[in-house]
Amino acid sequence: MRGLMQDWPLLCHKLIDHAAAFHGGREIVSRSVEGPIHRSNYRDVRRRALICAKRLDAIGLGKGDRAATLAWNTWRHLEVWYGLLGIGAIYHTVNPRLFPEQIAWIINHAEDRIVFVDLTFVPLLEAIRDQLKTIETIVILTDADHMPDTALDAVDYESWLAAADDDFAWHEFDENLAAGMCYTSGTTGHPKAVIYSHRSNVLHAMAASAPDMLGLSCRDTIMPVVPMFHANCWSIAFTAPLTGAAMVMPGAQMDGASIYQLLEDEAVSVTAAVPTIWLMLVQHLEQTGARLNHLKRVVIGGSACPRAITQAFQDNYGVEVLHAWGMTEMSPLGTMCSIKPEYAHLTGEKLLDIQEKQGHPPFTVEMKITDDDGRELPWDGNTFGRLKVRGPAVSRAYFRDEGGDILDAAGFFDTGDVAHIDEHGYMQITDRSKDVIKSGGEWISSIDLENIAVGHPQIAEAAVIGVAHPKWDERPLLVVVAKDGEKPARDDLLAFIEPKVARWWLPDDVVFVDEIPHTATGKILKSALREQFADYRLPTV
Ligand code: AMP
Repeated sequence: MRGLMQDWPLLCHKLIDHAAAFHGGREIVSRSVEGPIHRSNYRDVRRRALICAKRLDAIGLGKGDRAATLAWNTWRHLEVWYGLLGIGAIYHTVNPRLFPEQIAWIINHAEDRIVFVDLTFVPLLEAIRDQLKTIETIVILTDADHMPDTALDAVDYESWLAAADDDFAWHEFDENLAAGMCYTSGTTGHPKAVIYSHRSNVLHAMAASAPDMLGLSCRDTIMPVVPMFHANCWSIAFTAPLTGAAMVMPGAQMDGASIYQLLEDEAVSVTAAVPTIWLMLVQHLEQTGARLNHLKRVVIGGSACPRAITQAFQDNYGVEVLHAWGMTEMSPLGTMCSIKPEYAHLTGEKLLDIQEKQGHPPFTVEMKITDDDGRELPWDGNTFGRLKVRGPAVSRAYFRDEGGDILDAAGFFDTGDVAHIDEHGYMQITDRSKDVIKSGGEWISSIDLENIAVGHPQIAEAAVIGVAHPKWDERPLLVVVAKDGEKPARDDLLAFIEPKVARWWLPDDVVFVDEIPHTATGKILKSALREQFADYRLPTV
């Protein structure tokens, strides 16, 4: 017997319909790329998304067509997403921090037909325009007054919109239709495209907004500092309208002072970004003595959140830190470190120990850890292995990838991360599987060592890599950037780390550098460091 419930497909644009109908006046405040603060609301974003959809439809875009965006978080970018979604076209967020050749490769691979580009990235687009084989239309996300002098055959977004009205109905289609695409910034080979569906995005947004995850409500104001081009905007472009939370979009300015200004002026209650952003904000707060008067929760993920940041937010500013883990292939949320009753009694250092973990998953994410032969490992908070996941918002294949299905026999996706899970289901990442340091047949966690090193008051950033050793195979080398004006001593730093780790984990040496290389999504580029220090001779050799 089948259930007798209505067939109501899970379509992304139903989220903006819901927000416009029930939270229509809730504000969407953006720092525009042109400069001034812009104010809109859900009702208006939906209305203009309908106009955008009508324009797209008029130029022949529809189901399955891809549209690139090279854009910051603003109300216009949000309208474009929903405009595309409403006709079954696919938003393809391109990370503008990639090399121009990579961007051209990605746009050609995706066969994008139209590109929506912010003023900031017009020069970038000009430089690669003649390499783009499938782009028919270029829309610059600005108005006629701010159109740059450009050789591109382009139109400004406001004039482009003005050619239609909002008398338009969203198209009807199956919930499994592709909705969005995002290329992962692989460190080797070409990037691979993850394709989200309407169904996966909606299910993921419902899971991600739950109380132990983002915990969003219509009383919140959320500022996604995480760009819309990073891993599906951590789903905030969907969770905010789903819950009716107001949004603050930071545009192109993500320095400490600009972020602080929006947090205060717009009374932001929840925000989310990678650790680098929060390092800049905390430095700004320390330098100016400013306070955070509205912010309640900050979601930190994308890379391991240093303990010192969690401590600064919670102890000095009364803001709760939610350490999160995820990946592009997971839409992206995998886990969130909210505190379960089992750990609710903890305070101080003991609580920080738990918050260093990446946390527990929402409903819709299943998880296991295995050894190299695929045998499941125990959840004892100690034994680490390959982290594998399964769920309705987890990838099963990449777009046009010869690899085909990427799952194991039980349908789990290997995240490429190495982790342990404790008895209460809290997962902690110890490494990327390719970054793990193998010393004498045992594994050393580079992330643990990095976390400890950045806890040293004179250290701004730290990376640990394995360097060849004749006896142990590999030994850890600590690479650090000192804080401005500081001159930390090698032996001091090692003495700081020593009591906090097993003796054989202690790095064999420390090198001081001016800068650590990063990927386009702000992660430490370990492959480049390994190349740089490939011939490094450890003092222990
Ligand atoms: P991306 O798809 O660019 O978001 O990258 C996903 C990868 O970032 C994961 O597989 C992890 O290796 C890493 N990552 C994300 N969040 C965290 C975190 N909280 N701690 C450690 N690594 C993380």
